[in-house]
Amino acid sequence: MQETWHIGIDDTDSESGMCTTYLATLLVDLLLTFPVEFLDFPNLIRLNPNIPFKTRGNGAISISFIASEEIVEDIWKKTVELVKLNADINDPKTDPGLIIIKGEVPFAFQEIYQQAIYTVIPLKRVKTLLEKHPNKHFSIKDGRGLIGATAAIGADLLSDYTYEFIAYRDLNQRKSERLIDPKSVLIADKKIPLTFNNYDYEHKKVMITPHGPDPVFCGIRGETSSAVIRMWELIKILEPIRTVMIFRTNQHTQVHFPKKYVGQDLLPHLSVKVRGIVVKKPKDFPGGHVIFTIKSGNTSVDCAAYEPTKHFRKIVRELIEGDEVLVFGGVRPASAKNPVTINLEEIKIIRLISLKERITPKCPICEASLTSAGKDQGLKCKKCSYKSPEKLYYFQQRSRKIRTGVRYVIPVCAQRHLTKPVSRNIPLQFHLSSETDFQQAFYAFLKRRSELNSHPVTSKNILAKNDQSNL
Ligand code: ATP
Repeated sequence: MQETWHIGIDDTDSESGMCTTYLATLLVDLLLTFPVEFLDFPNLIRLNPNIPFKTRGNGAISISFIASEEIVEDIWKKTVELVKLNADINDPKTDPGLIIIKGEVPFAFQEIYQQAIYTVIPLKRVKTLLEKHPNKHFSIKDGRGLIGATAAIGADLLSDYTYEFIAYRDLNQRKSERLIDPKSVLIADKKIPLTFNNYDYEHKKVMITPHGPDPVFCGIRGETSSAVIRMWELIKILEPIRTVMIFRTNQHTQVHFPKKYVGQDLLPHLSVKVRGIVVKKPKDFPGGHVIFTIKSGNTSVDCAAYEPTKHFRKIVRELIEGDEVLVFGGVRPASAKNPVTINLEEIKIIRLISLKERITPKCPICEASLTSAGKDQGLKCKKCSYKSPEKLYYFQQRSRKIRTGVRYVIPVCAQRHLTKPVSRNIPLQFHLSSETDFQQAFYAFLKRRSELNSHPVTSKNILAKNDQSNL
């Protein structure tokens, strides 16, 4: 009998290699050797970006398909083998978790997802859940990956979602530099507005290529699968590609701030939004960090814009005592040196206090500047000797450089996977009106996949390095 199945995987990679998305790509290839019907693109689910156990972007994977009960045992065995073979288990921090469930996703899984995007979920809670619900699961070492695997199955990408096209490089290719023509990325970026975060115009940097030892050559993010494919076709590359995959994902949807917190409730590693009044104005610290303090509830909390947040710090420096703000970020626990601090990702200004500055009037006779004539005396003009009987200062409203209601977000180069870029102001109805048949769109991609794998490698007239100094 045909049934619906959901597989969840997490924690297979380490800082020295591998990538859970690559393992998911291998799993799609494995599933393609069976008579299964995929229901969607593989889902790449980002979870709380402030989790200390994460390797890079705290991503987990789920894959949903229809298959007969008889072949699923074989699929399961081969999936376990695949994880054993490919997970970087020699790394002490890699704790793979793999789950398969049948039928409707239980509400308890959805709850785990809803909380895993911004809180810290105890492993024991997930293991207890897995004992209660019919499923098969497999884990290595502590099996911490079961948390992400459960959350990925429980994720729903119904309201907002995006796509990421990932190209994987030859596995022998260990150099951190990805050979791509930055100019082609710039040109394609302008041609395909339904993609985003391709290029950091402020720092003149290609943003689609990572720098680590992982197998990812590039990741192209966009609103539709056709947009990310088109972008891939337009960019020029200088190294062979092993394979490609498209994921549907919660990346760039800002789901990680579902709840408003007050200062006294800030637990370590939560992703929070907190409303408060600035009680200590921003101060610069060595290393380029800018820190200010807000009062929220009955507690004062430090908020930090670190050096990598670049020009965002200029915005932060404009705050003054009395301003009311909504800050978004991750809770860094208190240390011996520092109190609990919110590592800022975004600020919205709710109310700006009006700033008045003292103005000294001009000389009514010759219009030169007046200065004080001394204590308890008026103002005097050095040019024409005019003297006023008293100090006729007046106060004028000073304009503030920051505005209420605007989203001030850290720059692309410092953003988390879940951060919603300011440029991504596509209304939700866009998603409702096009490409919502994910199954059909995924099969359309699979049909073209081998052609997309063999992306022509350009060898001439290309800037080999990711160096845009002469663009
Ligand atoms: P990559 O992005 O390259 O796949 P990663 O950054 O996702 O790597 P992992 O190696 O998957 O990092 O490690 C993250 C670990 O944290 C996983 O074991 C996952 O189950 C666990 N985890 C994820 N979210 C939470 C959460 N909210 N609470 C507790 N544990 C979590």
